[in-house]
Amino acid sequence: MLNLILFGPPGAGKGTQAEFLIESFGLIHLSTGDLLRQEIAAETKLGKEAKQLMDKGELVPDHVVIEMIKNKFAAHPEANGFIFDGFPRTVAQAKALDVLLEENKTPIKAMLCLEVEKQELIDRILFRGKTSGRSDDQDVWIIEKRISVYNKKTAPIKEYYEAQNKHYPIDGMGRVEEIASRLENTVRSL
Ligand code: AMP
Repeated sequence: MLNLILFGPPGAGKGTQAEFLIESFGLIHLSTGDLLRQEIAAETKLGKEAKQLMDKGELVPDHVVIEMIKNKFAAHPEANGFIFDGFPRTVAQAKALDVLLEENKTPIKAMLCLEVEKQELIDRILFRGKTSGRSDDQDVWIIEKRISVYNKKTAPIKEYYEAQNKHYPIDGMGRVEEIASRLENTVRSL
């Protein structure tokens, strides 16, 4: 199995690039952001609670997203591998993911970290906000908050994977196809 984490700040292009990796390597896409938005669309209790936090740019509690990932992982016993997008976002989530994958004897192969300058992140999210319909993509204050939550709570995960020699920084600036080939070349070299 090929298990990859596609990592990076909001607006780094994780969702876009995940599609290329899925196509090239036949992976199952697990995006906690997408799963949460499905809960919101279905107007579940979980979705309503999550929306309040997401609209403020804050993280949803660890146990909620860990449970979602466990369920989705278990639903695909046939998978060639998984691409984790937007998860883990805290060290506690990274540890829980390791436990889940150890239990299934299929560890993370690499954590691919897209590196993008802050102003470019804001521009990309505002551009996406014109069509995404996402309330957290519309307002610069909320976007800034999401980036600051990433820097405080999520970026420290890099050290967690560095300690396992699994952290691969990838230049996330430039054309979508150029970034996709950087990612693909890195995965092929693993
Ligand atoms: P995303 O689509 O990955 O940008 O996520 C949108 C929002 O969903 C985030 O700003 C968080 O509020 C929430 N979210 C998504 N994934 C996670 C996660 N792994 N842990 C906590 N909150 C999350």
